[in-house]
Amino acid sequence: MIPATGAPVVILVEPQLAENIGMTARAMANFGLSELRLVAPRNGWPKKGVREAASGATHVLDGATVHATLPEAIADLTCLLATTARERGQMKRVLLPDAAMAETAGRIAQGEKVGVMFGRERVGLTNDEVSLADAIVTFPVTDEFPSLNLAQAVLLVGYEWRRAAGLARPRFTGETRALPATREALLALFSSLEETLAGAGFYPPEKRAIIARNMRDMLHRMNLTEQDVRTFRGALRALERRSRRPPPEAV
Ligand code: SAH
Repeated sequence: MIPATGAPVVILVEPQLAENIGMTARAMANFGLSELRLVAPRNGWPKKGVREAASGATHVLDGATVHATLPEAIADLTCLLATTARERGQMKRVLLPDAAMAETAGRIAQGEKVGVMFGRERVGLTNDEVSLADAIVTFPVTDEFPSLNLAQAVLLVGYEWRRAAGLARPRFTGETRALPATREALLALFSSLEETLAGAGFYPPEKRAIIARNMRDMLHRMNLTEQDVRTFRGALRALERRSRRPPPEAV
């Protein structure tokens, strides 16, 4: 299992828009990533509007480091992945994000430090930057519209990381349902239903057996709980009592 602190590092190369950096921090916090490295952010750092866009994911921003060059930002990593929408003609493995994160989880479990780098909003990563990576990660997007927003690209990688690390569990479950009724309770329900229906003249004589079986199937499909069976039987008893009452006097 992945140690709690082990998660890939996110590297943004020359990010420009405060919104994207803030939303990157937010996406990282959503999926349990915390190490953000910024390579030469455009128009300086810190930027106005980043905190607002991070929407409370300030721990990621506060821990973010700024680096003058990419080699400096990746120096301590043992594995680097480059995300890109475009073919680069380089002799490199090309992975979808789920496979990339499965491999990343394996490497981190072995004590490696893995980084995933993302390019500039306008022009992505240069071929030289991609050449520093061990493998390319590309999303299965349409040919007509392959380029994702920078922070959304980080979001998808974060999501796949969480799944690959075995951390993708719902944070809450649906209503806790009582146990299904026992066979005994169900059989009692079948017989009171069948008797009540027979008393009401519901079954054509030669079809009783087959109709009764179909109704048992219906009831099985409802996956009744013990309480459901009690309610159902109570309802049948009420109907029975009513049908035994003498008919109202004719006027
Ligand atoms: N216009 C740029 C894309 C910029 S989007 C280009 O043509 O390369 C900003 C960054 O988001 C990209 O550099 C890449 O890191 C990531 N990204 C966007 N779309 C992607 C995709 N389909 N697959 C992988 N990464 C993607």
